[in-house]
Amino acid sequence: MSTTPRTVRRAAALLVVPVLLAACAPDEPVDAGATVTVYTGRHYGIESVFAAFTADTGISVRFTTGSDPELRERLLAEGANTPADVVMTADAANIALAAAAGLLAPVESAALRAAIPADLRAADDTWFALSRRLRVVQYATERVATPPSSYAGLGDPVWAGRLCLRPSTHPYTQSLVAALIRNEGRDTARAIVASWVANDPVYINSDTDMLRAVAAGDCDVTLANTYYLGRLRTEDPAFPVAISWPEQDGVGAHVNVSAAGVLAAAPNPGGAVALLEWLATDGQAAFSAANLEYPADPDVAPAEVLIGFGAFTSDTASVRELGALNGAAVDLLAEVGYE
Ligand code: FE
Repeated sequence: MSTTPRTVRRAAALLVVPVLLAACAPDEPVDAGATVTVYTGRHYGIESVFAAFTADTGISVRFTTGSDPELRERLLAEGANTPADVVMTADAANIALAAAAGLLAPVESAALRAAIPADLRAADDTWFALSRRLRVVQYATERVATPPSSYAGLGDPVWAGRLCLRPSTHPYTQSLVAALIRNEGRDTARAIVASWVANDPVYINSDTDMLRAVAAGDCDVTLANTYYLGRLRTEDPAFPVAISWPEQDGVGAHVNVSAAGVLAAAPNPGGAVALLEWLATDGQAAFSAANLEYPADPDVAPAEVLIGFGAFTSDTASVRELGALNGAAVDLLAEVGYE
């Protein structure tokens, strides 16, 4: 494929960085070229994973956490002066929005292309998913015999007064609705989300709190990411909530991702690419397991608790389009009165 002058070529970057440091900062006690700075919206369990990367490569990691949109605003404000080399997000739309804002440089890496399926990386190589987070139907095992088997199913009047949902301001909600728009078309997607609203959901801005509300009987059905149930089941194997994998006769369950890209203004692009390659390969199992997410590389086994959730089909085909449809999803949510 074609490349641009901003394309990060790993071999060249690794050769150039030490030379520049030797010329510019001979008295620095710490080799700044051996440090990668990460702005990350995906923060669960990240410290031990970065420590393992440092142990493997000798490259240390500095990181700053924040919400995906906050970190993007910060990067836009810092511009060419940013200390960050890598941005990592907890949502597919947000990494695509960073790319659309011109913040990311394409990365030319055979290792990343080999490890990460095409559906889970940008067509222009500006970002790469590093793990999959499935947002699916979860229900009270003690009160629900027949849970919804589709996203549209939450709009059945049988669930009136029995739903907990994450608010419209959250990227997880927006990306799920963006996928509905892609898969069902705008009008059908609007009718589906309107049917949820008609069931008078309780809005709770925490997946963990939604699952606890289901367990406690405050609601019976919710939409939540799988890793939150993984954590609660790890704490309590009898936690009375289960997954109903949606859309198994159709496009498959909604896939969101943790993803990362190298900043166009990265002071250490070579180290940044080394980190992404390690997270996609040697560190892939540790990175995904640290948050009980599914690996992006389908050849890497997920954590044990996830194997207990069973097999499923998933909608990887939508992942690249969630950023472009984010605005339409936000508009649709407002139109139907989803809080
Ligand atoms: Fe989360």
